[in-house]
Amino acid sequence: MNNKDFLFLSRFSNILTREFNISDLDLNLKKEFSEFIKFEKLDLYVFDEVTNTLRNCGNNWSIINDNDEVYEAFENLKEYDFIINKKAYKIPNQIGDIAIKINSLIIPLIKGENIFGLIKLEFNNEETLNTYFLQIMKIFATEISLKIQNIVLNEQSKINVDFHDSMKNIAKIIETQYELNYIVPLIGEMLDRFISDHLIYVFLKNNNKFDLVWPKACNDERIYEILSKLNNNTEYLLTNDNKIGAFPLTSEGEITGCIVARSTLDSLSKRDISYLEQLTRQSAITINRANTYSKVLQYATLDALTNLNNRRQFEVRLGQEIATTKRQKNPLCAMMIDIDFFKKVNDTYGHASGDIVLRIVAQIIKEHLRESDIPSRYGGEEFAILLPYTHIDEAQIVGERLRKAVQDTPICLDKQNINVTISMGLAELDSNESGEDLFKRADKALYEAKESGRNRVCLDKNAKP
Ligand code: GH3
Ligand code: MG
Ligand code: MG
Repeated sequence: MNNKDFLFLSRFSNILTREFNISDLDLNLKKEFSEFIKFEKLDLYVFDEVTNTLRNCGNNWSIINDNDEVYEAFENLKEYDFIINKKAYKIPNQIGDIAIKINSLIIPLIKGENIFGLIKLEFNNEETLNTYFLQIMKIFATEISLKIQNIVLNEQSKINVDFHDSMKNIAKIIETQYELNYIVPLIGEMLDRFISDHLIYVFLKNNNKFDLVWPKACNDERIYEILSKLNNNTEYLLTNDNKIGAFPLTSEGEITGCIVARSTLDSLSKRDISYLEQLTRQSAITINRANTYSKVLQYATLDALTNLNNRRQFEVRLGQEIATTKRQKNPLCAMMIDIDFFKKVNDTYGHASGDIVLRIVAQIIKEHLRESDIPSRYGGEEFAILLPYTHIDEAQIVGERLRKAVQDTPICLDKQNINVTISMGLAELDSNESGEDLFKRADKALYEAKESGRNRVCLDKNAKP
């Protein structure tokens, strides 16, 4: 080996130690090879067992359908070492040391005894090359083979980690949430993120009909057709072209819904199907538990996430307080709070972090109220609070203090401190008013606080002076 070849080989090995994906590898290969040898075209093909085809690493991993020369070479290379000018050779016996003119060269990528891909080089002007050059190319091919195997293994283990994360996250939702209209979209989003080449739809069965619950629309007739074919014994159903798969959600042997995956590219592979089956099973467990929880929680009075009164208990307390207030002719104020831009917190830091924010805001609310005040989680990121024995001007002071406390409390998410703000609407009970109307006015004031810029306290105009 001459000095120049040796230097090139060692630099090349060095480059292969970097972290690449397949298309980076293709790019770098082309760049580095052009320093070593003048060629017209270099293509890197790898066999994909899932689709049973060769794929072009440099062209978005696209499937090769109509290149007979490449498939023929792939077959021939099971027995030969090189294809030179479309003819198969073993080296060195057949070639010897004679220099030959080359305009195309194909070298196998080998794993153990098996060929799993090939490198194809085309030369513009015929190059005169010898066995020595071919030997060096063999060393390159071995290095590249190892690198590709390493990339494929890495990607597979990344997918496995993502898969286990998705399974865990779906299982975890239930720790703090039990409302299906909150949980199902989360499951949809998680599946969608994991199964990236497919559109995911989630249906729940209602009165023998499949209602779409995630995403907002589904216009594909074939999906409804496949749903109509499901029965309680169906494990999963695929369309003939394997592009749509329906995976039933079941509870005690009955179908309660369905997760549908529709491929936007190739058909669903065995691996996709296996992942989807497992994710569907996990989703069914989460949804079934949520259903059970929500039944149990009908009798609960506290919200599981924040420990404030839940909405149901709040309605009960509201009725009682209105009656007492009217009887004793005490003042009473209603406060509606909504966290500003909360969706952005969820989108940036994830729902688990969103839950932390909800807990902390609830805690701050509790700390700034009197014993006699009645705070509740009204729903989502909204809080409704009753302030007995309180006129609107005092309520405004309490509200401002609370608003400022939330604004000034840094919340640590993902090792980063963020500050959230709240908007607030206040109203004081009029003598003839119902609790429902009182909160309608507080809600109207909250809307004004949002409209006029957020992070502020607004009073309803009809409030008493
Ligand atoms: P605005 O300032 O107008 O109130 O904007 P916003 O983003 O806060 O309002 P929007 O109503 O668009 O979003 C509320 C979000 O609250 C959407 C929903 O996913 C999220 N959410 C509701 N309940 C929960 C929950 O229990 N946990 C978490 N993490 N998020 C929740
Ligand atoms: Mg809201
Ligand atoms: Mg909000």
